[in-house]
Amino acid sequence: MSKFIFVTGGVTSSLGKGIIAASLAKLLQARGLRVTIQKFDPYINVDPGTLNPYEHGECYVTEDGAETDLDLGHYERFLNIHTTQANNVTTGRVYQTVINKEREGAYLGKTVQVVPHITDEIKRRMLLLGKSEDYDIIITEIGGTVGDIESLPFIEALRQLQWELPDEDTVVVHLTLIPYLRAAKELKTKPTQHSVRMLSQEGVHPDIIVCRTERPLSPELRRKIALFCNVKQEAVIESADAPTIYEVPLTMMREQLDVIVMKKMNITPKQEPELGKWKEFLDKLKYPKSQVTIGLIGKYIELQDAYKSILEAFVHAGALNECKVQVVNFHSEFITEDNVKEKLNGIDGLLVAPGFGLRGVEGKIIAVKYARENQLPFFGICLGMQMAVIEYARNVLGWKDAHSTEMNKETPYPVIDLMEAQKDVTMMGGTMRLGAYQCEIEKDTLAYKIYENTQISERHRHRWEFNNQYLADFQKAGMKASGKNPDTGLVEIVELPAHPFFIGVQYHPELKSTVESPAPIFVGFIKAAKEYNQKNGQNSAATAKTTI
Ligand code: GLN
Repeated sequence: MSKFIFVTGGVTSSLGKGIIAASLAKLLQARGLRVTIQKFDPYINVDPGTLNPYEHGECYVTEDGAETDLDLGHYERFLNIHTTQANNVTTGRVYQTVINKEREGAYLGKTVQVVPHITDEIKRRMLLLGKSEDYDIIITEIGGTVGDIESLPFIEALRQLQWELPDEDTVVVHLTLIPYLRAAKELKTKPTQHSVRMLSQEGVHPDIIVCRTERPLSPELRRKIALFCNVKQEAVIESADAPTIYEVPLTMMREQLDVIVMKKMNITPKQEPELGKWKEFLDKLKYPKSQVTIGLIGKYIELQDAYKSILEAFVHAGALNECKVQVVNFHSEFITEDNVKEKLNGIDGLLVAPGFGLRGVEGKIIAVKYARENQLPFFGICLGMQMAVIEYARNVLGWKDAHSTEMNKETPYPVIDLMEAQKDVTMMGGTMRLGAYQCEIEKDTLAYKIYENTQISERHRHRWEFNNQYLADFQKAGMKASGKNPDTGLVEIVELPAHPFFIGVQYHPELKSTVESPAPIFVGFIKAAKEYNQKNGQNSAATAKTTI
């Protein structure tokens, strides 16, 4: 039987519940326990797939094709495991299930209510992963902030579960903020006290309080929090701001978060935390031997979370290369033929990001052209790959009006076209080509050099594809399709053999990059950027500008 840890948050949002949950999971995993994490989100969207990245950051896609919250990305990156559809539940999904059951007549004429029907469905889903016997511990992160109207049914479900399950089978960790008031020169505990009181009013008492703070908590302050929040003093955990999220498991280990959890759960640890690989990664991250500057061209660059997995994949690949990766953002809408040279001057590699819709695509195409003509390492992901194809069609094949039918339905050269399976799609949620698909790589190509394998599997999220009707023309003109789906022939990878490093992929390699196994293509790209930097050293990093 699995045991259950619940992580709630108070005072404000954005305290990093996902990182705390993932760090605790890492420590327990490092002690030989089988752990997974799930996220319960209180919004009414059935999944985040239909959300604009400005709303909620990137949409993370799992192997089984679920469009999920970006915290699942942290779970995978920390734990090196795959999550699934079952690891992300929203209010929308819960209501959808209950309403469908009501329509089927499954409630036998009863009045369907938040309690017990919605809360029962939440509880069923909270326990679901425990049924598989694959896990010793299931950590459930409850999104939102305690006190929100939306999160009430989740807290009520948690209250009931705590009451139903044996005492030692549940732990509640509550994350709060201890603000520092500069004028008073003091850390303040009152918001935490209020937050714990609010949680208690809803019937749940935390076992552990993790305090986010910019300054160290003194023993007196810990005592005060313990006394007024009614937890043991050892269960008041300090979580100071860390230079990197990957440091947090180690700070939590120093604070003995895992030890306190195991004590409450009556678990005898199998071993001391085995974090050798993790520490090795951190060492390389902290003490790089070189530095490169990568230009990231996207249209959501105002919000860092919009490209979360890409930025983390750079951290992993950088560490493996013992190289600091400085990512400079460029807004695709503001790149023009006239300013591209000046703007991109000083970068060692160009990444064109995924995206949807017309806004900013011309800037992306101009940037691709610059990278292609200047031997600058280029890496295009999903829409970025599609832009590379359009650029080649327009400027090398001479098809001036070539485009994707996503942006121009009337183009005479639809080099990127809607996939056949997408043509009858009318509903937007969960209907893209999603999740893991095979890709067969041709030998003697850059892709093969990167992956050292002819068979790979990567995750997807798109509706458009390379139009194979034009493949022969592209190949003749020097753009190679080096990876294809073995079943459908869909082009997964394009590259330019005549360029030192020019590659575009239809899939999203960033989604599978973890601390312990960085995505090979990011590793190869950083290596190429390092080589470029060595050749063109003097005008690199120093001149790169942060620009919008
Ligand atoms: N908009 C493009 C498509 O749907 C690319 C999607 C993406 O970059 N994720 O095919």
